[in-house]
Amino acid sequence: MRVGLAAVWRDYRNRRRSLLAALAVAPIVAAASTLGPPSAPAQASLHHLLLATWATSLVAAVVWFARFRCPHCAAPFHWTWLVANPLSRECLHCGFEKWRDPHAGRAYAPTVNDR
Ligand SMILES: [Zn+2]
Repeated sequence: MRVGLAAVWRDYRNRRRSLLAALAVAPIVAAASTLGPPSAPAQASLHHLLLATWATSLVAAVVWFARFRCPHCAAPFHWTWLVANPLSRECLHCGFEKWRDPHAGRAYAPTVNDR
């Protein structure tokens, strides 16, 4: 039986994919930038619009990815005040492992509401 990913990890995967997609376009944008803007004003405007769109989407993807919060402690998963590691396999605050079921551990830990 295959168990699907928890919703929080599907969200993480979507954020990571959007960041990788924005980064994958970078070589194309860099190649287009080395050519310089076309001489016709209309083409130059389109060229600048495409560059601005890509830069904005890259920044948005980075921010969206960086804002991912740990499903266990709700702190930013990949960064602290001193360390930022977007490739970390565990939360930099509590050590909660990536892809782990966020509800499994709570089933055995009584909460304030259970007392
Ligand atoms: Zn955590």
